[in-house]
Amino acid sequence: MQEPLEIPIRIVLTETSHPGNIGASARAMKTMGVSELVLVAPKEFPSAAATARAAGADDLLAAARTVTTLAEAISDCAYVVGASARLRSLQWPTTEPRTCAQRLWEHLPAGPVAVVFGPEHSGLTNDDLARCHELVHIPANPAYSSLNLAMAVQVICYELRMAHPGSLAAGTAAVDEDREAPLATADELEAFHVHLEQVMFRSGFLNPDQPRQLKLRLRRLFNRARLDQTEINILRGILAAVDPDKPAGGRR
Ligand code: SAH
Repeated sequence: MQEPLEIPIRIVLTETSHPGNIGASARAMKTMGVSELVLVAPKEFPSAAATARAAGADDLLAAARTVTTLAEAISDCAYVVGASARLRSLQWPTTEPRTCAQRLWEHLPAGPVAVVFGPEHSGLTNDDLARCHELVHIPANPAYSSLNLAMAVQVICYELRMAHPGSLAAGTAAVDEDREAPLATADELEAFHVHLEQVMFRSGFLNPDQPRQLKLRLRRLFNRARLDQTEINILRGILAAVDPDKPAGGRR
């Protein structure tokens, strides 16, 4: 018999409407060796329908953490991927599940990593998207590309299993091997973006009536840079220094 394979990658389901989909997602995860489930504001949970559809994966449901915002679900994460059924008006870096699964494994040494799934009816919002380093899209019939939530979870967890480092080709180095400082967490990035927006606003650069795309574009830019903690500190130091409303005495 094979050794059980533990896949320490977090699955986050946001605002799921049907508890049955939560149960079916837990089952999909457990079959692939993925166990960490976080639920953001589920409509109904715990629920008998979830337990019934989990079919023996109810241990995952019992251990699931329920939170009220996506920010809480990923606050400690070094890398976050959003699963999206459709292409967006603002292009966000998007991969297919196989490449995405490899990247998730590669980022794991830097801190927790997560895959975020949207609600059944509407998918991920732009605010959710802004918190994702990249999106994963399961290639599908372009005229009918939206999978059932739990089936999308199944495909991603399967690819995570297949991309387990033990099965990667030799010589595929982890991307973070030569980093001097740990990657910034989602919380640290969020604090930086809040700070950046404040300074852009106070300096008159950001017009509050301007389309929100500017903020999204900046988030896309800094996500692409994969900032580490030293870099975040430098950027925040610069923001503090140029802030027109900075407290007397300079840096804060
Ligand atoms: N009607 C929604 C689809 C929601 S399906 C929309 O148009 O966006 C629920 C969730 O399952 C999605 O938010 C996404 O996380 C996941 N999902 C469904 N189909 C997918 C696909 N082809 N690729 C990636 N994720 C998918």
